[in-house]
Amino acid sequence: MKKNISILLLSAIAILIVVGIEIYLVSRIYNLEIEKFDFRYREILQKGLDYIDKLDKRGDNPGLATAFYFLNRQSQKLMPLYKPEAADTAKFKAVVLSGFHKILVQKQVLDSLLRVYLKNMKVETEFQSNFSITNLVLADNEKVVRVFDKIQDSSMRYPDTLNINKKLIPVNHYSYYADRFEIGIDYYVDFNNKKAVVLREIAGSLIFVFVALIAVCFIFLLSMRNLMEERRLSQLKTDFINNMTHELKTPLSTISVATRTLENDQILDNRAKTKETVSVIGRQNRQLTKQINHLLEISMWERKQFSLDRRMLELEPMFSGLVEAFRWECKEKSCKLEERFSFKTKSAYLDEVQLTVALHNLLINAVKYNTQDPEVLLEVSCDDRLRISVTDNGIGIGKEDQKHIFDKFYRVSTGNVHKVKGLGLGLFYVKQIVLAHGGSVDVSSRPGKGSTFTINLPIHGKNQNSFS
Ligand code: ADP
Repeated sequence: MKKNISILLLSAIAILIVVGIEIYLVSRIYNLEIEKFDFRYREILQKGLDYIDKLDKRGDNPGLATAFYFLNRQSQKLMPLYKPEAADTAKFKAVVLSGFHKILVQKQVLDSLLRVYLKNMKVETEFQSNFSITNLVLADNEKVVRVFDKIQDSSMRYPDTLNINKKLIPVNHYSYYADRFEIGIDYYVDFNNKKAVVLREIAGSLIFVFVALIAVCFIFLLSMRNLMEERRLSQLKTDFINNMTHELKTPLSTISVATRTLENDQILDNRAKTKETVSVIGRQNRQLTKQINHLLEISMWERKQFSLDRRMLELEPMFSGLVEAFRWECKEKSCKLEERFSFKTKSAYLDEVQLTVALHNLLINAVKYNTQDPEVLLEVSCDDRLRISVTDNGIGIGKEDQKHIFDKFYRVSTGNVHKVKGLGLGLFYVKQIVLAHGGSVDVSSRPGKGSTFTINLPIHGKNQNSFS
């Protein structure tokens, strides 16, 4: 078992590693596709900008010409206001910079021209642009003001809050010179649907990876279930062998003691004693034969050779006979058996022998699994179906065990397997017989309160007619 647990643990670790690798690979593919997207769109956008440049015969940039015109005028208005010796020079520069950036963003038409180009190229058109100023110089006849300069300023661009991360595609750098004004700007673009486009492109691989992962997990769970089942069956087998050994050993040792007794001449001379010893041997012999027949039965069931022998049966006499026989069997125990019959339909198409075996097993269990004087109620009713229920005041069965008691060899663990004799086959037979009749069997029980087993059978016999 330890080996099984190690295998499970190793498989779980292997699956985690596979899942980890898959996730890593998918994220790598995703990032590569994002890079591919950026690369492809940078090329398209640059071609678009070249195309837009060529639209203007004068050589101005048609997308930015208006913005530059306004910036130039603004610079001329501002220069006379600039006082280098004033205490608030830094503030003056900051106001100029933000004002220029605002004009740049508002007056440019580069975005709309590019969008038309992209639309004609039948590619993504939903983007947002970003401008950053990399240098800004104002001048008049007397002085030159370096408002923003890569060399002077610690930050490389304005606004420095602009997040130049992978999301933004750097498309172009523009420099503009006029008589009294100079500006350098970077133009960035960010596509709104970039993630969606990329995800759509890798959807096939994603689905494949996902399905493969599910398949691996499914196979793992299946193997785990099989291992558990294997463990359960091996436990059942061990219990069965223990029980069977016990069942066979007890009569054998009694026979051996009895035989040794008979070897004693004194006993042989005593007729009464001899008779008693021989009858003990006979009883134990019958017990052994019963157990061996039991084993033979099991192998017969295993080979699926059993089939029902059904006839039209009168219900009332059959059940009355069964009750009487059972009362006789339990004569020595202080057991009360009450029956309640209600037969609207008098006969049914059933296998009497098998049904008697099934019912006998239920009744025997009702007495066997009981720590007080057994009180058993047998209720049988028949209209369009035959309903049989056996209720006892026994030890009851816990919820978890109720799920398994009809399994072959299953016995509720009591800490001492041999306290109540059995092989864990009685209820298995009940279920098989009922299923062969096309019916069902249920249990409702509470530990310490007793149990009710209910069989429900069709009476006209449309069923499989053989055991499986
Ligand atoms: P066996 O009696 O040979 O062990 P069964 O298949 O008849 O096998 O029963 C399976 C298990 O179900 C028993 O070991 C017992 O623990 C439990 N069981 C069956 N009938 C009853 C009952 N009426 N009351 C309490 N426990 C029961």
